[in-house]
Amino acid sequence: MVLKGDRHRLHEIEEAEHRLACGRFGVCVDCGEEIGRLRLLAQPIAIHCTACQAALEAHRH
Ligand SMILES: [Zn+2]
Repeated sequence: MVLKGDRHRLHEIEEAEHRLACGRFGVCVDCGEEIGRLRLLAQPIAIHCTACQAALEAHRH
């Protein structure tokens, strides 16, 4: 049994690995801006910059 959240999390990790392989790691998928190094260190699978992530989370709630 896989919880929905776990499956989504796994998908995010796979996406991150794919981008890493393509050399597009560390760039926001929304605006194309570089994701800050500190943010990547804190969250290696981050796919959005801080601004876009905040917007997404605000939208989600
Ligand atoms: Zn962004």
